[in-house]
Amino acid sequence: MLPPGSTIGILGGGQLGRMLAVAAAQLGYRVHIYAPDAESVAAHCAAHHVQAAWDDEPRLAAFAAACDVVTFEFENVPVDTLRFLSGHVAVRPGAEGLEIAQDRLAEKNFVAGLGGCPAPFAAVPDRAALDVALEEIGAPAILKTVRMGYDGKGQARLAAADDADAAWAAIDRHAAVLEGFVAFDHEFSVLLVRGIDGETRFWDSSVNVHAHGILATSSLPPPQIVLDQQDEARALLAEIADALDYVGVLTGEFFATDSGPVFNEMAPRVHNSGHWTIEGAVTSQFENHIRAVAGLPLGDTATIALPVLMRNLIGHDIDSVPTLLADGAAHVHHYGKAEVRDGRKLGHVTWVGSSPA
Ligand code: AMP
Repeated sequence: MLPPGSTIGILGGGQLGRMLAVAAAQLGYRVHIYAPDAESVAAHCAAHHVQAAWDDEPRLAAFAAACDVVTFEFENVPVDTLRFLSGHVAVRPGAEGLEIAQDRLAEKNFVAGLGGCPAPFAAVPDRAALDVALEEIGAPAILKTVRMGYDGKGQARLAAADDADAAWAAIDRHAAVLEGFVAFDHEFSVLLVRGIDGETRFWDSSVNVHAHGILATSSLPPPQIVLDQQDEARALLAEIADALDYVGVLTGEFFATDSGPVFNEMAPRVHNSGHWTIEGAVTSQFENHIRAVAGLPLGDTATIALPVLMRNLIGHDIDSVPTLLADGAAHVHHYGKAEVRDGRKLGHVTWVGSSPA
């Protein structure tokens, strides 16, 4: 158990790191942020901030020396950075889950190997392979880059095989995976936390609605079909976590379909669809992630009250903060980012036990 006053290092400087830092402070820890970006909203809430490149080994070594444990909030931290740090300090969760999650093809093969059910998929390393994949998978389909895709970026939809050239150009001709289009009823998340001793707890699943590939809302209770499929999805995610000897919060995104839960993707970190847990659960995803990586007992994940609604404030949605603040039941989170841009997540708002007026 990491004693209070210890230092937790976080790789990545975004809002997830910011909310982790707040949770760490509550438990008496200091946080150091390491991120290459000029703007780090996590650093606003941290004791120390290193702005350096992911491959700057002298800076990484100095960062490791100043930390008692290191975790990450950003999915595209290079695996080599984690491996380097692991030689100097405990890194939780380890590099293996991140390595798999960074490669859509590896991720799908890994999950299918554990008995999970991803959408039908085929590797598309080059343009010629796309034609072969389309014959196998059929249309409609979605072409997704193997690496660096998030929030709907690096994706192109194909209504018919004729769209192949346009889709290939739209993803900048990067190595990709072609996925069959899943006719899902709903999208939902499974959020788990696994402690150093392997104890695993789940939060209730939210139903998630996306707009333009970006999460718009997460809400509970989810529809009955999600409740019916939650246990099967949980069992798969727990198996993934066990196989990786995972420590911390792990998120799985699923499609609820007539033939059962279809695995979409996983994130080896706290997740936007778990923001509701700050006010809506006894222990938030952020606190439990800190508890897990610090070796503390895990907190209760039970939902406090229903209904729950979390809505992201994206781009100019942030202008509605004064109005939202006038609703005394709204829990408003402003991430403190300097620049308002379309499609940028700038805050979120949560209602617990009541619906927005
Ligand atoms: P992803 O980045 O893979 O989570 O995709 C972003 C969003 O696109 C998902 O949350 C879904 O709404 C949609 N999507 C992704 N893959 C598929 C699929 N195979 N079939 C239908 N919709 C999909």
